[in-house]
Amino acid sequence: MSRGFFSVAIDGPSGAGKSTIARHVARVLGFLYVDTGALYRALALLARRCGVAVTDEAGIAALLPAADVRLTCEGGVLGVFLGGEDVTEAIRAHEISQAASDVSKLPAVRAFLLDTQRAFAREQDVIMDGRDIGTVVLPDADIKIFLTAAPQERARRRFLELEARGAAVDYETVLADVIRRDENDARRAVAPLKPADDAIWVDTTGNTWEKSMRFILDLVKGKLAQCSTDSRMG
Ligand code: C5P
Repeated sequence: MSRGFFSVAIDGPSGAGKSTIARHVARVLGFLYVDTGALYRALALLARRCGVAVTDEAGIAALLPAADVRLTCEGGVLGVFLGGEDVTEAIRAHEISQAASDVSKLPAVRAFLLDTQRAFAREQDVIMDGRDIGTVVLPDADIKIFLTAAPQERARRRFLELEARGAAVDYETVLADVIRRDENDARRAVAPLKPADDAIWVDTTGNTWEKSMRFILDLVKGKLAQCSTDSRMG
């Protein structure tokens, strides 16, 4: 390892289980968990509140210099703050998911968030999840995982999550949104969703959350052990 801190990149489409798994692995290993999607969601919320269309690049770029987006993590619980206001719940609304996917296409938005994301990995051991962590944000991450699952299964998980939160949505709508968001994320010109060349593919279709989590935890522990042996040997 050339750097002082260990970094894990987990990329993949929405609903693959990235955040649940990453949060748990971070807790077990004492790493900081960074949910980069939350940053894009917070900017989408900001644009909506300011009445700026998510496709209006100049309008959104004008909001960025004053945008104050922060992540906190206390006792393993992630908090998202916009201008000091706690928006942790507000950014999870169904309509913000698509809006986040739209703002994340804008080069100005990606450039704005790049250093914020990298700064986390300069200061501590991190596990970061998103769409372009292994390819763009942390291309030198110690371990890169591409986590995926069939769209129907991802939609089912997302539907159950929204239903538990009391949202009035139906499965077909959620499935259509999952597919649209996948296409949006994979086809954009800047930092599209794609596995890094050296990413380890993990398909969680049909697996329980615990099984997928244990598999990834073992992968990360194995890499940590290897890195500490390598650094001892010079
Ligand atoms: O991960 P989550 O679904 O919360 O992310 C919301 C949206 O933010 C995604 O659909 C994606 O378009 C965007 N995103 C991104 N790059 C990341 C993380 C999220 O483009 N690293």
